[in-house]
Amino acid sequence: MITVSLISLGCAKNLVDSEIMVGHLHRAGMRVIPEADKADVVIVNTCSFIDSSKEESIGQILEVHERRGLRKSRRGQKLIVAGCMSQRFSKDLPGSMPEVDAFIGLDQITQVAPIIEELYASDRGARAAPASFVTPRSTFIPDYDTPRFRLTPAHYAYVKIAEGCNHPCTFCIIPQIRGRHRSRAVASVVAEVRQLVSEGVKEVNLISQDTTFFGMDTWDERPNPRTPVDSSRGAALTTLLRELNAIDGDFWVRILYTHPAHWSDELIAAIAECAKVARYVDMPLQHISDRMLSAMQRETGGAYIRDLVRRIRAGIPGIALRTTFIVGFPGETEADVDELCEFVRETKFERLGVFRYSREEGTRAAKMKGQVPAREKERRWHRLMALQKKIASAVSARSVGKTLKVLVDETGVARGEADAPDIDGRVYVPRELPVGSFASVTINGHHEYDLLALPTGESPAEFKAAKQAQ
Ligand code: SF4
Repeated sequence: MITVSLISLGCAKNLVDSEIMVGHLHRAGMRVIPEADKADVVIVNTCSFIDSSKEESIGQILEVHERRGLRKSRRGQKLIVAGCMSQRFSKDLPGSMPEVDAFIGLDQITQVAPIIEELYASDRGARAAPASFVTPRSTFIPDYDTPRFRLTPAHYAYVKIAEGCNHPCTFCIIPQIRGRHRSRAVASVVAEVRQLVSEGVKEVNLISQDTTFFGMDTWDERPNPRTPVDSSRGAALTTLLRELNAIDGDFWVRILYTHPAHWSDELIAAIAECAKVARYVDMPLQHISDRMLSAMQRETGGAYIRDLVRRIRAGIPGIALRTTFIVGFPGETEADVDELCEFVRETKFERLGVFRYSREEGTRAAKMKGQVPAREKERRWHRLMALQKKIASAVSARSVGKTLKVLVDETGVARGEADAPDIDGRVYVPRELPVGSFASVTINGHHEYDLLALPTGESPAEFKAAKQAQ
């Protein structure tokens, strides 16, 4: 039996692709093992979003290659590279990475098992050039019955509701890698979520490149950015949320990766009315200065964003807003950074991440004048992060004394509705709370981004004793 080890890098969208590969490997009768050193085949599912992710991917590929050279028994091990980097550099990589046996693209994740069999059958010599199975212009989108083996803890899952992106952001390479936006059918997503909930999943994280555009690619007429959602025109995120909310069971639906352009009052109302949709919104804004938003081609301006944030806060009481910004975009001035800091100070985002602009080959921003030196990007990044640290601490302090429903991720560690897995803060809870279950706790302390809690009714002394025992 062929044994395969898979190393998954990058974001949750790539993780779902890894899960689909593992599902297909199992179906083909191959054994998937965690130890790369012991496997016949190692697949590295790469990320290529920014320079640092490319470096990590290349480092991981070379490490696997070096390690197989150290063990005589593993010299025949096959090394397959999949994912965004493989898709993005499909023309260049086979010639520049002879260490690799095969490259597969985003549309080959369901064919991984026959590709492995083909590699063995072709009996390629040690010095043969890498085989490339990558096809241009990705069009694949999974369905509810696509074989998949979840790699997340049993109590939460990612559900990819769409793939690709139609936005023209000048700094981003994703549309060139992942192709045009294509949505799954509402019924397909509902069937998958129903199945997950029946298996005991307590948190469903909806992901895509732009979750707010869900369904709109199927409309007869393409919606313009900022066009209010009109349910009569076809399926949309609002339709999906209402259907997911109607599924029986105690679970959360979390919406990740929303683009501000396609938010609408109807979406705000749908989130407010759906009790199973977490009071949490992830909306990367990237900047607030009109100059920068226009250079980035974000299809939104500062006034629109300010108004949208106000409407979301007013329409969904208790909402936690998560956003990300980019500092050091070409042409960014100190005045732009001042405006951004002022916006962050005023808005007090509950969760915020900052990226230093990465000059990505093949993007329009890479060719722009006014590239900002790395040291200056660093300074701006520290300025914004220092500001957010104080805001985050104040946000955490506001939770003290409140009762919170949390989902216990591991012994003594949980998350509330305002915390997405692997991204946001944690709630430290007593060890006896069962992993994978919801619990009601009272917050009794905080540390910057994290909260300390004890079950409602439990005394601080009992909590202290539990902490000391940890
Ligand atoms: S919305 Fe913009 S940043 Fe996000 S994936 Fe699409 S092009 Fe890239």
